[in-house]
Amino acid sequence: MKVVETIAAMKAERGKLAGSVGFVPTMGYLHEGHLALVRHARTETLTVIASIFVNPTQFGPQEDFATYPRDPERDLALLEKENVGVVFMPSAQEMYPQGFSSSVAVEGITERLEGKPRPGHFMGVTTVVAKLFNIVQPDRAYFGQKDAQQLAVIRKMVSDLNMNLEIVAVPTVREPDGLAMSSRNTHLSPEERKAAPVLWKALCLARGHWENGEKDAARLRQEMTTLIEREPFAQIEYVSVADPETLEELEKVDSQALVSLAVRIGGTRLIDNTMLGG
Ligand code: AMP
Repeated sequence: MKVVETIAAMKAERGKLAGSVGFVPTMGYLHEGHLALVRHARTETLTVIASIFVNPTQFGPQEDFATYPRDPERDLALLEKENVGVVFMPSAQEMYPQGFSSSVAVEGITERLEGKPRPGHFMGVTTVVAKLFNIVQPDRAYFGQKDAQQLAVIRKMVSDLNMNLEIVAVPTVREPDGLAMSSRNTHLSPEERKAAPVLWKALCLARGHWENGEKDAARLRQEMTTLIEREPFAQIEYVSVADPETLEELEKVDSQALVSLAVRIGGTRLIDNTMLGG
């Protein structure tokens, strides 16, 4: 496994590769969710390239950039075990040298859900992902369904800008109690950790009602809200039942819906989602 820190070295490694390349971009502090993306990539492409970069431009000024968990040595050991070919680990200075002044912006769907409380977040994501795609030149790139809006935004960017790669979605990997794996789960105290599966419980409740014939989106949102409000550690940011492509809120769930939520458990902001009718 090659580990490279500069863009020039990454491009040189890419130039040596023959055959298909799968790319897994991450912010590190890897868990089974990230490794599921790597394993999926390995089944479909000859060489897997992973990146580890805690991208400062996608964090707001009040967000957890400084305290975002980091453990590059452990990450590299895990990626080596998964037979990753190349790991790209640039510094912020390497990605955003002095004078950097370009950005990639997807409009519309970036203004809803995560975009509302986190202005500028998706512009940070699309700009860094576009840069990474240009540097790594993958045939396929793998993203988790866990970040459903991010996935939709990246698909839109790739389609709108005619980028020459395929985006592959990988199902969310969960802890045994349903909590979606996330690097941020390490911020939870033991009591908060016990409360955190309330997100998944709310999503399962909505699915249950929907499967029993409830099509009214407002009622599904209300059921989830009532359940989460019973959990003292939880504070709701949003509960959404939306069109999976446009992310506009639905009145009725006739065919498909993305049910998603953002909830603060103590000081930690968690997100999760499930697709109805997908
Ligand atoms: P992050 O390091 O949090 O930026 O995540 C890197 C990639 O891993 C993104 O495509 C995420 O959607 C994906 N990912 C994060 N958590 C999970 C999970 N629990 N299951 C599947 N994919 C995940």
